[in-house]
Amino acid sequence: MNPSLSEIRSSCEHYSVSAINTYINCSLQYFFKYVEKLKPSHTSICLPFGTAYHTARAFIANANKAKQTITQAETVAMFADAFHAGIAQTENLKAEEGEAAALEETGMKMIESLWNSRDPNEFVIECNKAFIIPVEGVELALIGELDMLTRNQENGRLRIVDFKTAARKWPEDKAQKDLQSSAYCMAFQAEYNTIPDFRFEICTKTKKPEVQILDTTRTEKDIAKFANIVRAVDHGIKSKVFVPNCSSFFCSDCPFKQHCENW
Ligand code: SF4
Repeated sequence: MNPSLSEIRSSCEHYSVSAINTYINCSLQYFFKYVEKLKPSHTSICLPFGTAYHTARAFIANANKAKQTITQAETVAMFADAFHAGIAQTENLKAEEGEAAALEETGMKMIESLWNSRDPNEFVIECNKAFIIPVEGVELALIGELDMLTRNQENGRLRIVDFKTAARKWPEDKAQKDLQSSAYCMAFQAEYNTIPDFRFEICTKTKKPEVQILDTTRTEKDIAKFANIVRAVDHGIKSKVFVPNCSSFFCSDCPFKQHCENW
C-alpha cells in the first residue's frame, strides 16, 4: 500500500507546494511558520471547512472507484461530521458568531450542488494519492497529494483533478497560472513518464453554490519553470532571505502578525 501524505510528511524534511507558495507570497511568514515553527495566533474556520469538504468529495470519488452505491444524504452527513470534528480539534479557532452554523448550511448546499454535477462517465483510478519526488539541485524532496486521478472514457487520457472551495468563481486565467498544477504534473511525470491533463473542480461558497470546471494543461517548459522556482526558493531559504511582503493578501488574516510587527 502506498504511504499516506501524513506518513510521508513525518518521515523526512520536505517542501510542499503550499510552503513554496508561502515563501513566494511572504517569505517572512514562511520563516515564522516553517523555520521558527512558531505557534499561529489563530486558525481560520475556513481550514476545518475545507478539510470537511475534501472528506465528502473524496467519499464520492472513492465510491466511484470501488463501484459502491452511496447516497447524497450519506455524503452530506460525512461533511457535517467532519466539519464538527475539525472544529472541535482546532486550537484557537477564529470564527465570527454564527459563522460555523452558516458555513455548515453553505457546505451542505455545496455537497448538494456537487452531487448533482457528478459526471457519470468519470472513471476514478486513484483518490488521495500521496507523492514524494526529488527536484534536481534541491536537497529536500517535494511532497504532495493528488486529490483524484481519472481516465477519460472517450480518449483514454489520464487527468489529475484537484478539489477546491472558493468564495467566488475563479477567473479563467487563474488555472493557467497556478503553480500547483505544474508541481502535480511534475510528480505524475516522475512516476508515469507522461504529462497528464489537469482539472480544477471549484465549488463556490455562495448562497447558490456552483461547481466550476477549469481544464488546463502543462508542458515540459511549465514543469521546468516550476523546478526553477523551487530551486530559487530553496536558495532564498538557505541564504536566510526572509522579507515581509506588507502588501501581501496574506496580511489581513496572518496568524503571525504580532511577530511581524516586532520584527
Ligand atoms: S503580516 Fe503580512 S508581511 Fe507580516 S508576516 Fe504576515 S503576511 Fe508577511
